Amino acid sequence: MLWEVMGLATRRERGKVAALEKSTNWKLENAQEDIGELQHEIEQLRLIVKSLASICQQKGVFTEAEYQDMQDFVDIQDGLLDGKSKPEYEPLTCPKCKRQNNHMAKSCMWCEAEI
Ligand SMILES: [Zn+2]
Repeated sequence: MLWEVMGLATRRERGKVAALEKSTNWKLENAQEDIGELQHEIEQLRLIVKSLASICQQKGVFTEAEYQDMQDFVDIQDGLLDGKSKPEYEPLTCPKCKRQNNHMAKSCMWCEAEI
């Protein structure tokens, strides 16, 4: 009897471990996919910014020094001169589905829950 119970418990634990392993692998694969998509978006944005900056310089809209000054000016507006610019408004996180929504949203655009 004791051996049967122990065997059952062991099988149950193995099942839990297998399920956890499967779930972890799934989350890891999703995270790797998300990172790949973000890298692609960053490369696209870099191309857009570089193209816009290049055409503006070619057309004499601004010089490299003026561009650098403006970049620092925009950078410091969030309180830190750190080479980054934070959005002025943080997105709202839905209390129900935990997805992000516009800062002005009254209800979630994903699940329609009240925010
Ligand atoms: Zn929601």
